[in-house]
Amino acid sequence: MSQKRIAVFGSTGSIGKQTLEVIAAHPELFVAEILTAQSNDSLLIEQALQFVPNIVVIGEIAKYAVVKKALEGKPIKVFAGEEALEQVAGMDCYDFMMAGIVGFAGLKPTLTAIESGKHIGLANKETLVVAGDIVMQTAKQKGVDVIPVDSEHSAIFQCLVGEHNNPIEKIILTASGGPFLGKKPNFLVNVKRDHALQHPNWAMGAKISIDSATLMNKGLEMIEAKWLFGLHPSQIKVVVHAQSIIHSMVQFEDGSIKAQMGLPDMKLPIQYAMAFPKRLKNNFPRYHFDKPNQLSFDEPDVKTFRNLYLATEAMQIGGNAPCVLNAANEIAVYAFLKNRIGFLDMTELIERTLQKIDFIAHPSLDDYFESDGEARNYAASLIQL
Ligand code: NAD
Ligand code: MG
Repeated sequence: MSQKRIAVFGSTGSIGKQTLEVIAAHPELFVAEILTAQSNDSLLIEQALQFVPNIVVIGEIAKYAVVKKALEGKPIKVFAGEEALEQVAGMDCYDFMMAGIVGFAGLKPTLTAIESGKHIGLANKETLVVAGDIVMQTAKQKGVDVIPVDSEHSAIFQCLVGEHNNPIEKIILTASGGPFLGKKPNFLVNVKRDHALQHPNWAMGAKISIDSATLMNKGLEMIEAKWLFGLHPSQIKVVVHAQSIIHSMVQFEDGSIKAQMGLPDMKLPIQYAMAFPKRLKNNFPRYHFDKPNQLSFDEPDVKTFRNLYLATEAMQIGGNAPCVLNAANEIAVYAFLKNRIGFLDMTELIERTLQKIDFIAHPSLDDYFESDGEARNYAASLIQL
């Protein structure tokens, strides 16, 4: 069997690094053909020297010369900038894109990859939150598999294998509740970035860690699930399951519920997406039933964690509302990470932006880009300097 040629978009991030670990563990199955990073030139160089891909792309143009020089004499092409990222996504030298860029920036390269017939392992949930209708429709037209990497969606995907299109009654997305589970606004108002970055069960990039602390992550995941599995919003339920052992569940029309379980480790959904439909043997730590365990299930507190409420509402409204929600959230999260606004201010920023930006019921791709830009500008204008 020939190796699957992998393009790792966002190779220096949490998903990207774990994807490279999976590639390194299965050299007979996978080869890294493209690596891309936004600003971490030293790690990109290190990865390029280890994996010797065909192409590397550094997002920050000012870092091109450093990367180029470090890889001199190697059979590696070096490109820089946003346009190069998109062009490379359309090239024929690879088969499968691991979409591991964070945020709206992942949309264009992922869509370009789909348009050029590449299968996708989708970690970048924002792509579907913003333009899920266009992305999934294009994938269908091109016969492209969009295989979820997000652990909840991978769980649902795994539960659906072998179901031969048996209709879904509902899906149950599990949420860990993040580092502030059970906390109230009087506590959250004083929360600082370093505390919010400390997720109890998962080690992830900064943006998704903050999204997990505010429960926006679960809101984005509801919208992601709607598009991935063709669901009506009323079929998507969120349950807080603090242990992160059940990664999500599907309930079928006969009432039967299937769950996918395991210790929280993103390498599992990453390798599942890359090797699908095969399961690869590994030695990741196993979950054991030989000591007392409690798996708990609770309703999310959407009164305290209002981001989840706002995201649910945006999903129900549809059109460009999730795109606006996502843009405002990205501005809010980065402002919080820079200690410019407080934890609860993030919600206010998002709510005010949703109220401000004109609603478009059936946006084109250009409309999505415009709504994203308008929402970012407005949200940024609300942050006091
Ligand atoms: P991260 O911040 O660790 O890494 C992000 C990667 O994207 C880096 O390689 C960075 O160089 C690149 N990048 C950042 N901004 C860019 C830009 N403007 N243009 C091009 N590249 C850019 O993030 P992560 O935690 O790996 O998350 C990546 C995506 O996967 C997110 O959408 C996240 O929601 C999703 N996801 C992550 C996890 C996880 O465990 N980390 C789990 C589920 C889903
Ligand atoms: Mg997830």
